Amino acid sequence: MEVSEMPPEKDSYVLPEKSKLVSPKKLSPRKSIVEKVFGGSNSGGGSFKKRSESKSSINEDNEGGMELMEIGGQRTKNVLILMSDTGGGHRASAEAIRDAFQIEFGDEYKIFVKDVWKEYTGWPLNDMEGQYKFMVKHVQLWKVAFHSTSPKWIHSVYLAAVAAYYAREVEAGLMEFKPDIIISVHPLMQHIPLWVLKWQGLEKKVVFVTVITDLSTCHPTWFHPWVNRCYCSSQEVANKALQEGLLESQTRIYGLPIRPSFARAVLVKAQLREELEMDPDLPAVLLMGGGEGMGPVKKTAKALAESLYDQETEKPIGQIVVICGRNKNLVASVEAIEWKIPVKVRGFETIMAKWMGACDCIITKAGPGTIAEALIRGLPIILNDYIPGQEKGNVPYVVNNGAGVFTRSAKETARIVAEWFSTKQDDLKKMSENALKLANPEAVFEIVRDIHELAKQREPGVFPYMLTSSFTSII
Ligand code: UDP
Repeated sequence: MEVSEMPPEKDSYVLPEKSKLVSPKKLSPRKSIVEKVFGGSNSGGGSFKKRSESKSSINEDNEGGMELMEIGGQRTKNVLILMSDTGGGHRASAEAIRDAFQIEFGDEYKIFVKDVWKEYTGWPLNDMEGQYKFMVKHVQLWKVAFHSTSPKWIHSVYLAAVAAYYAREVEAGLMEFKPDIIISVHPLMQHIPLWVLKWQGLEKKVVFVTVITDLSTCHPTWFHPWVNRCYCSSQEVANKALQEGLLESQTRIYGLPIRPSFARAVLVKAQLREELEMDPDLPAVLLMGGGEGMGPVKKTAKALAESLYDQETEKPIGQIVVICGRNKNLVASVEAIEWKIPVKVRGFETIMAKWMGACDCIITKAGPGTIAEALIRGLPIILNDYIPGQEKGNVPYVVNNGAGVFTRSAKETARIVAEWFSTKQDDLKKMSENALKLANPEAVFEIVRDIHELAKQREPGVFPYMLTSSFTSII
């Protein structure tokens, strides 16, 4: 399989009139939605025809739209994974799916991992990362936003308005990759692409699936009844999917997709510690706060610097790894702590499986990705925070299954770790066993196999894959 960030080569497609292709970044100034919907312009407004009604569109490029035709039979299928770097979990899941496709199917699929919103649209869609960072820093604001947009009529109206405004750009963004399969791993990437596919008459040709990257509580925008499949990470999520109008036949429960580097690699702790230049003998705690380095990381690091140092013997009883993600200020402030125990401070890491494999327990906010990865590595978890809304339910999930504890107090966290590393090693072992029982390392492989089966049912046969101008022409 080829893994690529670049759009597919154009030479396997017939482009009837190249000059009429719309470059996604150079779109003409937009008209008001009303003007576009009700016509009155010469930009294609009012020329909308459903694909089934416009046979002539196969070879005629009508009114400024674009048309692509694929020729040839057996070929590599394109998979477009829609994600956004809001936190670290969506990218991690996207990469997990990409890598699992590669392991399972080799060259049969070519994978594109894309934030189409960021690359092809304008505000507010193109800055979801910035908005998310701002909101989760002011958690009360995030809480209000999460809950107030939960009713269907509110988010549906909002997404419909945004869709109407940006459909042309989204369409150009999606179709540049000529996807046979679209996989959304983000709660805001169902509605608009599904509308685009529907208006293009491509909903029967392109497989569209959602892979939910939350573990328990999740926002209703994750669920759209037009998807071919909705992969739910837990029974709780699947129940929510049914409540939101999906059919049981549309849902599958395999678990959260985690990068194969966690599931398949044989990792030996002693070797990892040598590779990562850690102390070979001291027990190790990993401290982190998701992709953005959120939560009380600095406070907890300070408390651990005290609790893992035995004042009497003047020796450390443990070592610590602090992974700050994209939070550069946090790196500097943790490095500035006066450390008497062995410590590694890192920014955004790409070898999380190794760091987790080298440690004995983890302290983190209740991010679903980090939790699911820690479970696979059998790490007992101290949850020290959660993002309101989507992460709240992860706390009872971990605690009630005996895989960890929850406390917001940095001192309490530090005390628990010191006990686990000295007098309460049995507790640590028991929690590690419970964590392994909850883990779902094979989930990502089950997901890609199921998507592969769906794609097989959609073999294009002799029919060409085309775009008409139908969708863009109404707006
Ligand atoms: N992560 C990573 N490198 C880092 C920090 C985090 O790869 O330096 C990954 C982590 O392994 C996990 C994801 O980012 O897969 C964080 O996802 P989670 O759902 O825990 O929290 P989010 O960041 O999405 O809020």
